[in-house]
Amino acid sequence: MTEEERKELAELIFPNITKTRDYYEEKYPERNLEEGAMVTRFGPSPTGFVHMGSLFGSFCDSVFAKQSNGVFFLRIEDTDQKRSVENGIEGIFNDLDAFEIIPDESTRVGGAYGPYIQSERTEIYQTYVKDLMIQGYAYPCFMKEEEIAAIREEQEINKTKLGIYGVYAVDRDLSLEEIKEKLANQEEYVIRLKSPGNAKNEVEINDCVKGKIKFPENDMDIVLLKKDGTPTYHLAHVIDDHLMHTTHVIRGDEWVSSIPLHVQLFQILGFQMPEYVHTAAITKKEDGAIRKLSKRKDPEAKVSYYDEVGIPIDAVKLYLATILNSNFEEWYLQNPDKTINDFTFTFDKMAIGGTLFDLDKLNNISKTYFSRKKAEDVFQETLSWAVKHDSEYAEILKNNQEDMIKFLNIEKDGDRPRKDIAKYSDVKEEFSYAIDSMFKEEHYQKNESQKEYDTSLIKEYINDILDLEVDNDTWFSTIKEFASNHGYASSPKEYKNNPENYKGHVGDICEAIRVMITGRLKSPDLFSIMKILGKDRILERIELYENR
Ligand code: GLU
Repeated sequence: MTEEERKELAELIFPNITKTRDYYEEKYPERNLEEGAMVTRFGPSPTGFVHMGSLFGSFCDSVFAKQSNGVFFLRIEDTDQKRSVENGIEGIFNDLDAFEIIPDESTRVGGAYGPYIQSERTEIYQTYVKDLMIQGYAYPCFMKEEEIAAIREEQEINKTKLGIYGVYAVDRDLSLEEIKEKLANQEEYVIRLKSPGNAKNEVEINDCVKGKIKFPENDMDIVLLKKDGTPTYHLAHVIDDHLMHTTHVIRGDEWVSSIPLHVQLFQILGFQMPEYVHTAAITKKEDGAIRKLSKRKDPEAKVSYYDEVGIPIDAVKLYLATILNSNFEEWYLQNPDKTINDFTFTFDKMAIGGTLFDLDKLNNISKTYFSRKKAEDVFQETLSWAVKHDSEYAEILKNNQEDMIKFLNIEKDGDRPRKDIAKYSDVKEEFSYAIDSMFKEEHYQKNESQKEYDTSLIKEYINDILDLEVDNDTWFSTIKEFASNHGYASSPKEYKNNPENYKGHVGDICEAIRVMITGRLKSPDLFSIMKILGKDRILERIELYENR
């Protein structure tokens, strides 16, 4: 076709497209940002919720934009109607809001580079495709589904590369007359790329995570515009990220194989390429095998899971930071007074292969997170969580605020603060003994130890010896003395040397008290618990133990 004919064709196909590329280039000028500022974007389909993998992606987007004083925007990618659900956009905002991942530009707050939803950008895509058609890089393809299926079958039999390219792209050289005839017959068509590539040549890109990657050049005549005139992902990605001035395309590495196509589209459209940051899939280990985290099989793949089970959002974000950069966790453990915002994330510390999503590790990080929080804050957050998810417990907490905070405060200071809470729901479990109305006889059955303890000995100790006003050392020396006076060794070592001389050692007496007043073999510092409970309540519990 001559250039004149191509112009005529473009007018025939796009009679309503009157704007030009220049119009859009002017409308969306370079962003006015400081050197090194990154512009990132999150492009979810409006499926109604954010999956853990895409939450991780949006977390990366926001982190890199924020730390470079750049821009992070949200673009709703609704070109595939099958993936759209009613109120799908709202669901995405809800999940992002919950994690405080707030885009600077979006359908909600607007911005100078909108519309931020692809279905409202059709005219833009068509303007660029019209131009490509004039240049000879795009053509209408009338192939029917059966024809495409027959080609595929033939390619499978001949074991050649699948797809519409070269000789298989039968409509790429139709004459203007032939096209006019088909249009007159109202034959349906898509617009395909007329690929100038040759698979014998190589393209190379330098991915920020994966480093240099080489591919054969693209020679596929892929679809640019579907039958209804809406774009495919590939076309929309290239045009949008150009016009919205994305500097770093951070996306899942399932897109790596599309790189040669995207490079070609950037080239023929005359756009500068952004940097690519392909992130490894989030995986899970199951029965020894590694697979992708699945929203169907894994409850933790849904971001609403964390609120339901009571893992604080900030702890999940800390975990995302540990999978984002391999050096984050060590830094976090070494810097007790710092937050995520104080860390500088880099691409070279990102995983190249799969990133294992490990709930145990998340729990550990969450324990560290809780251990650094003030008791009052742990109380308030647990209360807010309980109001939503466990109203009965919320009432109990409200009625026992003062005591609860004291219990939560045990062993909080020092180099090795207590790390027993990973979720808000753990507070109920771990501090069940803290609240009288929750402390019932069944506690003793539920919480281990089949041993029978001597209640009269312990009662004697509580009534006659225990002084709750003294300091920890004094308390311990008096209980040791009590032990010696009653046939117990004053240390485990002493007992071990001559077990036949003793009924047990001081630790056994502490264990008896601990079991009677907490129902457990393990608890935070015993004397602190006793101090908070006070003698009367301690005696009530011993009574309860006796009568169980
Ligand atoms: N809409 C694409 C997806 O959901 C976004 C990919 C990208 O970030 O480029 O996979």
